[in-house]
Amino acid sequence: MNPDIEKVLVSEEEIAAANKRLGQQLTADYQGKNPLFVCILRGAAMFMMDLIKHVDIPLEYDFMDVSSYGGENTVTTGDVRIIKDLDTSLRDRDVVIVEDIIDTGYTLDRLIELFKTRHANSIKIVSFLDKPSRRIKHVHVDYNGVKIPDEFVVGYGMDYDERYRNLPYVGVLKQEIYSTK
Ligand code: 5GP
Repeated sequence: MNPDIEKVLVSEEEIAAANKRLGQQLTADYQGKNPLFVCILRGAAMFMMDLIKHVDIPLEYDFMDVSSYGGENTVTTGDVRIIKDLDTSLRDRDVVIVEDIIDTGYTLDRLIELFKTRHANSIKIVSFLDKPSRRIKHVHVDYNGVKIPDEFVVGYGMDYDERYRNLPYVGVLKQEIYSTK
């Protein structure tokens, strides 16, 4: 295990099982459709690439990079800034938003509102992790991998200061990593 990690919250085996289960559900639910999977960069990239291997129907995917507005008001305003927009039109598409983790719910709430204005046929959410205790905006997560307690996690695509994304599991960092920054 990486020496900076205090504990593993979601092991490689649990990740693989969650991806298989979610992929089977999506395969069943999107029969006869050609959904557009929208990966929210950068955290969800590893998850989406593993997930779609288990989705056994025709599909397309695209990437979008968003960030919360910085500063003191990030949590209270919850606005998101588009850093890289989609190249694909959403009109009449069955959109599956792929997120790494839903925390307060602001990011997904704003994205759903935005995608509605782009005339998607349907919009569903798959989030690998869910921290339900932190929710401020109610967002319905259609497909969830694993629910976790209120801890800041890294690995499996998720970072702290752009590090740890390549860990194959989800873990909690040791306190000293934050305090020495
Ligand atoms: P929300 O808008 O739901 O509060 O936040 C969602 C985004 O915050 C996620 O896509 C992710 O980028 C970031 N985030 C929330 N919790 C964590 C966490 O525990 N670890 C990491 N690395 N990112 C997080």
